[in-house]
Amino acid sequence: MKVLVIGGGAREHALCRSLSLDPAVTALHCAPGNAGIADVAELRAVDALDGAAVAALATELGAELVVVGPEAPLVAGVADAVRAAGIPCFGPSEEAAQLEGSKAFAKDVMARAGVPTARSYVCTAPDEVDEALDAFGAPYVVKDDGLAAGKGVVVTDDLAAAREHANACERVVIEEFLDGPEVSLFAITDGETVVPLQPAQDFKRALDGDEGPNTGGMGAYSPLPWADPKLVEEVMETVLQPTVDELRRRGTPFSGLLYAGLAITTRGVRVIEFNARFGDPETQVVLARLKTPLAGVLLAAAEGALIDLPPLRWSDDAAVTVVVASHNYPDTPRTGDPITGLDEVAAQDAPHAYVLHAGTKRDGDAVVSAGGRVLSVTATGTGLTEARARAYAAVARIGLDGSQHRTDIAAKAAAESSAGAPATA
Ligand code: AMP
Repeated sequence: MKVLVIGGGAREHALCRSLSLDPAVTALHCAPGNAGIADVAELRAVDALDGAAVAALATELGAELVVVGPEAPLVAGVADAVRAAGIPCFGPSEEAAQLEGSKAFAKDVMARAGVPTARSYVCTAPDEVDEALDAFGAPYVVKDDGLAAGKGVVVTDDLAAAREHANACERVVIEEFLDGPEVSLFAITDGETVVPLQPAQDFKRALDGDEGPNTGGMGAYSPLPWADPKLVEEVMETVLQPTVDELRRRGTPFSGLLYAGLAITTRGVRVIEFNARFGDPETQVVLARLKTPLAGVLLAAAEGALIDLPPLRWSDDAAVTVVVASHNYPDTPRTGDPITGLDEVAAQDAPHAYVLHAGTKRDGDAVVSAGGRVLSVTATGTGLTEARARAYAAVARIGLDGSQHRTDIAAKAAAESSAGAPATA
């Protein structure tokens, strides 16, 4: 199978890595890719937001499957353009991707499907904002109704800060605060059949102890030893299948990756948000544990044949990923810094630990930083403690001037699972 992957982050590196290990994949291309993806796929240049250009590239390559990684091309209708060219595409249509592209749309789908989520108001005028903030009280949750790469949300006890963020949004959603730990659960769907993956947890704040600003994600781990073993089954019944059914009922079936961001609250599971694509960095840990070859799974979703897919096989190993970000991320990340230690990790830590590239590019013989999140250092082990130790040992070999990473990824879950006590987050 000839496969073209669209995107150039650590998520796409994880996808390309898994696809490159799948014996069914005979040719793997990635556009635009990055310096790390170049080791496992042939890089192509394309404007990822231009559906006609992506479809033309896929046709030229003879691609039998196109996998769209990021949300922006999906919301721009790239999957539709590829399908219109007669090529199977893993990723939802422009209309179905509104589940991620518009929080107001997602709330409407959830309301119709009876999916549990935070109560919310969509506000268009400043007095509505004040009313809504008042109605829910602190902590205030204020969201921009559009794509903001996970950074359009402010959760604060400070009313003035909540108002200020609301005023900066074009259309604002204000909602009830959800307490409790967060879980990311991905499902692969063809618009009808839903196949859940394994749950993961990510770390959105920039600094240890969940301090600092929200980011695209600073690390992740899977499995979640503290989670209810019935969690996946429950979310399938109450969230994933009803959402997929509702979108099909509307005539906008969702095929691709449905990502449920969940809060395990004291009152039960609630959806915080949906995304229409693999999450980064959770994909890095979820795919590290998937034993079923990936290409056939994605193709079955793209072709509407998931019902015939045998059950997915998972490793019992744990996986941890630690994001290495550039100086000043997420505000004004500095780029162009040389990265060292990549060969050392490959020589000394593989196969249990490996480096997935995000914002990197080649500069002569060197690999240099080219974005905010630069690397996703990923490791597996027989438990979270071992996976974590291996990931951090690999991080320690990496040199990147001014870089930052969290030191507490999966720490609490690892400590509590090795102590045998139930953990909370
Ligand atoms: P979102 O872009 O909707 O995923 O929000 C980003 C992050 O903001 C989430 O992962 C949560 O940590 C936080 N968040 C969003 N909505 C809520 C809520 N209703 N209650 C508590 N935290 C929230």
